[in-house]
Amino acid sequence: MNELVKEGFKIIRALWYSEKYGCALCGGYPGPICPNCSEELLHPELSRCLRCGKLIAQERVICTDCSEGRGPKHLKKVIAWGHYTGCLKEFIQDVKFGANPMRMMQISRPLADWAIKELPLVDGILAVPMHSARLAERGFNQAEVIASRIHWELGLPILQGVKRVKATPPQVSLSRQERLLNLKDAFALQGKEPFKGRSVWVIDDVTTTGSTLDAVAEVLYEGGAKEVYGLCLAAGFEKVLVPEFD
Ligand SMILES: [Zn+2]
Ligand SMILES: [Zn+2]
Repeated sequence: MNELVKEGFKIIRALWYSEKYGCALCGGYPGPICPNCSEELLHPELSRCLRCGKLIAQERVICTDCSEGRGPKHLKKVIAWGHYTGCLKEFIQDVKFGANPMRMMQISRPLADWAIKELPLVDGILAVPMHSARLAERGFNQAEVIASRIHWELGLPILQGVKRVKATPPQVSLSRQERLLNLKDAFALQGKEPFKGRSVWVIDDVTTTGSTLDAVAEVLYEGGAKEVYGLCLAAGFEKVLVPEFD
């Protein structure tokens, strides 16, 4: 098909989509993400900490925690789409606790477009696995829902081969030390070298310190993975202390 016609279809699709649904996060117009949410929540002007994915000042590469050795050790790069606050936080919680996984469909296109610009193309994607007990309780794994949308948008294969063998309390409620202990031996490989020679994006909904993604990455390398990257919907924001002048 002629490039111009293809572009035309893209524009028509985008217009139809934004007319029909508006902003996936706040309901405003135009969608799928309105300019206000983009500015307030996605912060395209900020960098992401290379190690943990946290939103940081534009001129920085890694956050203070990571520069002092408290960040993930195994991932090549981690990115978080937006800041875990306001409408984005509500959206993620509604998907997760409101049993509303279908809402993920509304953000998959802008999320995938952004991810493919920020991360190198890989052999496959893997959702952070959920323990069977929690899966039975919730009925679905939100990380798998995100991964399936990325698969749909970008055509990247979904990989299997890691199991969550320990039912761990949510990371959010724990200190850094407790998080690391909590995650020790939480994930296990299935089969022998299921990721041999492969590059992978590990996908989760939210990251705080990057330790969950890092624990999965460690297991992937044990399984023969070549390069592991992390992709999340949201992360924290590093507050930078600006010196005050009179
Ligand atoms: Zn909005
Ligand atoms: Zn960091």
